[in-house]
Amino acid sequence: MDDFLKVTSTRARDLTPEPVPSQLVDPFGRAVDYIRISVTDRCDFRCVYCMAEEMTFLPKKDLLTLEELEQVCRTFMSMGTRRIRLTGGEPLVRRNIIQLIRNLGAEVKSGQLDELTITTNGSQLTKMADDLAEAGVRRLNVSIDTLDADKFKLITRWGDLDKVLDGMKAACDAGLSIKLNAVALKGVNDDELGDMVAWAGEQGYDMTIIEVMPMGDIGNETRVDQYLPVSVVRSRLAKRFTLTDSDYASAGPARYVNVTETGRRLGFITPLTHNFCESCNRVRLTCTGPALYVSGTG
Ligand code: SAM
Ligand code: SF4
Repeated sequence: MDDFLKVTSTRARDLTPEPVPSQLVDPFGRAVDYIRISVTDRCDFRCVYCMAEEMTFLPKKDLLTLEELEQVCRTFMSMGTRRIRLTGGEPLVRRNIIQLIRNLGAEVKSGQLDELTITTNGSQLTKMADDLAEAGVRRLNVSIDTLDADKFKLITRWGDLDKVLDGMKAACDAGLSIKLNAVALKGVNDDELGDMVAWAGEQGYDMTIIEVMPMGDIGNETRVDQYLPVSVVRSRLAKRFTLTDSDYASAGPARYVNVTETGRRLGFITPLTHNFCESCNRVRLTCTGPALYVSGTG
């Protein structure tokens, strides 16, 4: 961590002990106030671009415990982190994860954190939405790449679209706001993305379209067949919708436009066609702890 990030104080240097809070800054001088933490590598789906169907997950002993994850979060908070995103794998399948969420959510309620958000596949939301809202979560990113139930099964292998849609409804009913994440997949959902933008607008969701990235162990399959430049997606959408560049920045890697016809924001994450590193100041922590790096979609 020392090689990559350094801790500085905003206070003039003298010989008296450093007071907290110190501020974490990266080597480009950007204050790190947003951390994205993977709380597990496990998942109840097997999306074709993310995992192989037969996965070997890390031994449980290698994962940070919930207490250790909380300790890491608190250490980051003491160095200026104001926003935390929990992700995975699927964060909501980790046993007792609600306890960590409650403890961090208490810091949102007390004003020590601005925001606690979760990126989820939505499979557990019918059960957990009320608890999440109660704990202090206000926003979720939910990943859906298609509104066609059969295609959803093909993409996620193990997912059930109706269950996810019911979960999203439960989340809305609980007062959570939702942003939709969709990975653009050539020949799979590219003909549907316009309808998804329209649907997201009707539901009151912002949406982000993500270019498929060469990450994760997907077994023997190749991503070449899946790859669709998001620049192409954008040009196609621009034939149906009026897209106006937006100054909105989420601290993540997305670039946003406003969609006049839906009144919602639409983000594009383009890791391959347009490197986004200069606009991203996030730190990511993997579920085993030590690997710490910037960037990503979740
Ligand atoms: N399981 C949760 C979910 O699916 O939202 C959180 C973890 S998932 C790794 C976070 C986001 O990364 C999801 O929106 C998913 O679609 C996206 N993602 C996963 N693998 C990807 C890949 N190879 N290229 C681009 N996006 C990917
Ligand atoms: Fe699971 Fe999310 Fe990866 Fe899909 S994208 S396999 S839901 S971790």
